[in-house]
Amino acid sequence: MSELRFDPIRRRWSIIATERRFRPHEFKRSGPEQPGDVGACPFEYGNEGATPLEILALSKEPRQPNTPNWQVRVVPNKFPALGIEGELSREAVGMFDKVNGIGAHEVIIETPDHHRTAADMTPEEIFLVFKAWRERLIDLRRDIRIRYVLFFKNHGRDAGASLYHPHSQLIATPIIPTALVEELNVAREHWGRKERCIFCDLIKQERSFGDRIALETDRFVLLEPFAASFPFETWLMPKDHSHDFALCTDQILQDLARLVRDFLRRIRKLLDDPPYNFILHTAPSPHPRPGQPRYWTTIEFDYHWHIEFVPRITRIAGFEWGSGYSINPTPPEEAARFLRELTTDDDG
Ligand SMILES: [Zn+2]
Ligand SMILES: [Zn+2]
Ligand SMILES: [Zn+2]
Repeated sequence: MSELRFDPIRRRWSIIATERRFRPHEFKRSGPEQPGDVGACPFEYGNEGATPLEILALSKEPRQPNTPNWQVRVVPNKFPALGIEGELSREAVGMFDKVNGIGAHEVIIETPDHHRTAADMTPEEIFLVFKAWRERLIDLRRDIRIRYVLFFKNHGRDAGASLYHPHSQLIATPIIPTALVEELNVAREHWGRKERCIFCDLIKQERSFGDRIALETDRFVLLEPFAASFPFETWLMPKDHSHDFALCTDQILQDLARLVRDFLRRIRKLLDDPPYNFILHTAPSPHPRPGQPRYWTTIEFDYHWHIEFVPRITRIAGFEWGSGYSINPTPPEEAARFLRELTTDDDG
């Protein structure tokens, strides 16, 4: 029998359709992704001039900016959703509110290799990507106009990627995004009542149940949420309480990179290299709001950073839009089991 499931963190319902169980090979998709013309790719060695001037580059040896031999390179998005120049203005328009488009939109080029997807990379290469994320997060927080930095990766056209070359992006916004505000409010309320982190409570409970845990390391747990909206929707969380990705040490990021690589390889094998979104949720910038001492007074205690992963293998249709429900044909317990039981030919 199908179940309606309520997620106390997101305050959202999902229908887990146990009648129509999709096994991993049953998701049909459009043809394979086309890599395009490598020579014309702006993210190749030698084509550094085709992007706006670089903001950050990680390399093995000293190099001149905007030249080859980088390992990870961060550049402004050529067609930014938000721009860094100008004064921030907040304005009322009748009953509406408006804020101008101040912010930042950057591209993190994850590898010089056009064909090397995240699942192909070594843990060390993935670590460098997370290291670049951490550096950009710390740097952008110095700008007091910016209230939030959202890091995300779109893999595959159906997940929104317009360029084939492996990359992730960040969008820094002058307002905390709604999805975050909702999570922050829920977490703060839980802390206010219980003086416990809701994410820590969830991790503890799910580890004791076990059936929705897909993978686990010393530091991280990777689980399928009880009320998963989509097949193989996955949350990745540090086991030790931490509200802020910026506080991760290199050692923590290395552990994270190993787990992410293992997970992405399993997902690629199970779902035939699906398009996906990979999103970081961390604490907002700690800048004070005018007239208030702090945004989120107990943020260090009540929020818990995490990564959300969604394969884009099902469509959102009228019922889902109209109701706010999602219909998930793969129960999260089964998704966790598929992930756990898969044997990967992990060649290091
Ligand atoms: Zn390329
Ligand atoms: Zn916690
Ligand atoms: Zn989240």
